[in-house]
Amino acid sequence: MRTISHFVNGQTLEGTSGRFGDVFNPNTGEVQARVQLASDAELDAAVQAAAAAQIGWAATNPQRRARVMFEFKRLIERDMNALAEMLSSEHGKVVADSKGDIQRGLEVIEFACGIPHILKGEYTEGAGPGIDVYSMRQPLGVCAGITPFNFPAMIPMWMFGISIAVGNSFILKPSEKDPTVPVRLAELMMEAGAPAGVLNVVHGDKTAVDAILTHPLIRAVSFVGSSDIAHYVYQTGTAHGKRVQAMGGAKNHGIVLPDADLDQVVKDLSGAAFGSAGERCMALPVVVPVGKKTGDELRERMVAEMQTLKVGISTDLDAHYGPVVSAQHRAKISDYIRIGVEEGAELVVDGRDFALQGFEKGFFIGPSLFDGVKKGMKTYQEEIFGPVLQIVRAETFEEALALPSEHQYGNGVAIFTRNGKAAREFASRVNVGMVGINVPIPVPVAYHTFGGWKRSAFGDTNQHGVEGVKFYTKVKTITARWPEGDHEGDAFVIPTMK
Ligand code: NAD
Repeated sequence: MRTISHFVNGQTLEGTSGRFGDVFNPNTGEVQARVQLASDAELDAAVQAAAAAQIGWAATNPQRRARVMFEFKRLIERDMNALAEMLSSEHGKVVADSKGDIQRGLEVIEFACGIPHILKGEYTEGAGPGIDVYSMRQPLGVCAGITPFNFPAMIPMWMFGISIAVGNSFILKPSEKDPTVPVRLAELMMEAGAPAGVLNVVHGDKTAVDAILTHPLIRAVSFVGSSDIAHYVYQTGTAHGKRVQAMGGAKNHGIVLPDADLDQVVKDLSGAAFGSAGERCMALPVVVPVGKKTGDELRERMVAEMQTLKVGISTDLDAHYGPVVSAQHRAKISDYIRIGVEEGAELVVDGRDFALQGFEKGFFIGPSLFDGVKKGMKTYQEEIFGPVLQIVRAETFEEALALPSEHQYGNGVAIFTRNGKAAREFASRVNVGMVGINVPIPVPVAYHTFGGWKRSAFGDTNQHGVEGVKFYTKVKTITARWPEGDHEGDAFVIPTMK
């Protein structure tokens, strides 16, 4: 059986822990490979390699570093099909979604190609008599990223793309569920001209994460995953003196006002709730129609739309979505559906019994729809992360606005309406980090930033865009004067400008 090893200092590093994780093919349910799980020793080897490489990399001028990112982009485009198929075979999302995963990461690499422009400092000539003040952004040193299973290409690129372009070296700890593409990305960075040790991949579970969070040479940690672990990572990393940004789970709402174009809404919702089997942090698993008529019509059209959805293997070009990532995850989704029924919600469409002919052992689950979901229900409060859409009815705009605003998660939200004034007011008042107006999955483009609020993100700096550059750099400010004689006037201690 294939073994997936660590990638350190430009080459494969065989693990010594003796521990492995299973990597499944979600289409068939079979174990297709095993991945080495690191102990402290492998993580330390990666940190030492990264620390040694970082000195020369930081001293490399910014446009040379940018050229590596340009070449990396070209290589990813060259290998797009192979990468997407590899990604689908471990994650289960359909190949078109895998290409989207890679493409959205590439957009951050494109942004990183222009980072020299953002790294330019600020300069004030004559801030005092003969005094100039200037500031510069310097890299932090060795940084690390811990990523979830659901975007094994995009999220690593969000992190290492920015971190490396500004002059850091990086250690990536990808999800142990789909680790092959992250290793391939690191190999391609080497092929693109990044020196050995600038990007390393260490596989693992909690042991590797704890080793990252406590290693004295790691200066900053970026995490994306579920909220409880994000919170733990934030607390442990900051307690060990690191800069930490930790993105967590989500429960995004789609608000549908009575004037919305319902045909369009149903199509948008279908993609946003069931695409990628609902395993997206920006999925829309909750829809809030305002008014009884809107709710009844939406439900009827949604049921019809769901009948057109095709669930298939990840290489089926006609499939809307494929299997979920693991048998445990499918069991968890089924459990939430059972609890929803017990809580008193109406299960309008039940996807639990779905089986794909010829792939009965695959981790497939059909789309499900609940109506009559209420605020206090556990299945409303928690993230299901599967192909389950919940209708939560509201009577008024204010009631609809309060639902996402008061929810524990605050990643994304969307409003569907033809009324510009209502949309504008909603966007201004809603207590959520990313808002879509007639856009169901409002993932910001790479030169803006990505980040939720409340329990969807711990720390105060977003992913990518200028915020990403700030996260991976520190500012140094220089106050300079060049006196002509040895003893010119009074002692000059603290520059105060009268
Ligand atoms: P997860 O929290 O299980 O795993 C994320 C990472 O943490 C993995 O690398 C994993 O190995 C590691 N990990 C797992 N258990 C750990 C533990 N006990 N201690 C320390 N580290 C541990 O998340 P997942 O299932 O891989 O991904 C799905 C979750 O990620 C969902 O909650 C989803 O909403 C969230 N997500 C959030 C965003 C965002 O930007 N907010 C983006 C994508 C996914």
